[in-house]
Amino acid sequence: MISDGWEAVIGMEVHVQLSTRSKMFCSCAADYLGAAPNSNVCPVCMGMPGVLPVANRVAVEKVLKTALALNCSIPEKSKFDRKNYFYPDLPKGYQISQYDLPLSRDGWLDTGGARVRITRAHLEEDTGSLKHAGDALHTAQESLVDLNRSGVPLMEIVSEPDIRSAEEARDYALALRQLLRYVGASEADMEKGQLRVEPNISVRRRGDDKLGVKTELKNLNSFRALYRGVEFEIRRQVEVLSGGGEVAQETRGWSEPEQRTFSQRSKEYAQDYRYFPEPDLPPIIIDPGWLDGLRDELPELPGPRRLRLLREHGLSEQDARELTAEKATADYFEAVVAAGAEAKPAANWVIQEAPAARPEHLAAVIRLVAAGSINRDQAREVLGAAASTGADPDQIVRDRGLAQISDEAELGAIVDRVLLENPGAVADYRAGKQQAIQALVGKVIGASQRRANAQVARRLLEERLGT
Ligand SMILES: [Zn+2]
Repeated sequence: MISDGWEAVIGMEVHVQLSTRSKMFCSCAADYLGAAPNSNVCPVCMGMPGVLPVANRVAVEKVLKTALALNCSIPEKSKFDRKNYFYPDLPKGYQISQYDLPLSRDGWLDTGGARVRITRAHLEEDTGSLKHAGDALHTAQESLVDLNRSGVPLMEIVSEPDIRSAEEARDYALALRQLLRYVGASEADMEKGQLRVEPNISVRRRGDDKLGVKTELKNLNSFRALYRGVEFEIRRQVEVLSGGGEVAQETRGWSEPEQRTFSQRSKEYAQDYRYFPEPDLPPIIIDPGWLDGLRDELPELPGPRRLRLLREHGLSEQDARELTAEKATADYFEAVVAAGAEAKPAANWVIQEAPAARPEHLAAVIRLVAAGSINRDQAREVLGAAASTGADPDQIVRDRGLAQISDEAELGAIVDRVLLENPGAVADYRAGKQQAIQALVGKVIGASQRRANAQVARRLLEERLGT
């Protein structure tokens, strides 16, 4: 995709809203979606003078678990710092963040194609949000401030510039979302703003050691926008440099309607945030016993689990990948196998049908299909009934008289009738049209109220037609 002779160098800065009950430093609810503006606030998250923050222990634990899953090292001591800047969505005039002693650093994440080094994962608080739009009461010249989001726990994960393409950038974000969900750190829904991905992108001539000037990309609300935005930005920078121009160091936004990036603000020098230690919060001392406990609570992570499914069940790479995409899917698949189903059909059913039935009920249905008692259509019906009524599949098959007809005498009578009633198809088949047999199998299935075993029906038809 990138023009010959050029290489893209991409690092990722990702903000994750942690799924805690309360905000980072007060007891307001962390889930503010749908609340009326400024209804989910208190003096602490509104930044009133004289209030005291109290750190949310669960938020610290969610960062530590994520950091362990990202293979980071975790120092014994960490602290919060004030990051000072003025913006209307930040009522205190500073954000409580972490500067020189983050909760973790120096990890890595395998994304399928590439290994991306993690610089650090730290904890901070979210800001409020601004609404810049006119409505019936307010003209477009006004901005409205909503502090419902102010103080929601936010994890920042910074990567090294190890990514080389739009595909790799998307793979990284997808792998990170999967990990965050496995660990239980966040729902990480990009559309809801719970996962905010900001790539920084530069290009250089292939073989150069020196990094080019980078731009930072914001407002990416989907994986598709991330892919398109990075792709656009690489192409744009190559065009600028090939034409003898210079890339400006700036923050750029992604315009979804126009499918292009645009300059938001120039960033010619690093902003001086005058960080200093947060005087109202004690340092965080990470006791080794606490950390061991958190490590024990970690689930088996997607990568190792995929490899184990490949090894233990002889699944295809593609099946193992799909089954481990979400932890709940992998858990369900393994419960079906534990209930006695063969791995391969269990994988097919779980991936293709995503049944809502209990795992042991799916295992029972798979056994009924394997024994030839019911066909696949009937199996779907039984699974649906098992999911809605909770009844046992064997019982459902008996109650509904669903058992497939595999009996040759019973099926043979239907086959004979179908042959008599369809002389045209019989003549076609005898004239060499092989596909005519499929039509006859269909007629047999129809004549049996969909209960015929298709394989047996086909064999009986072939026998009678003399092949
Ligand atoms: Zn509050």
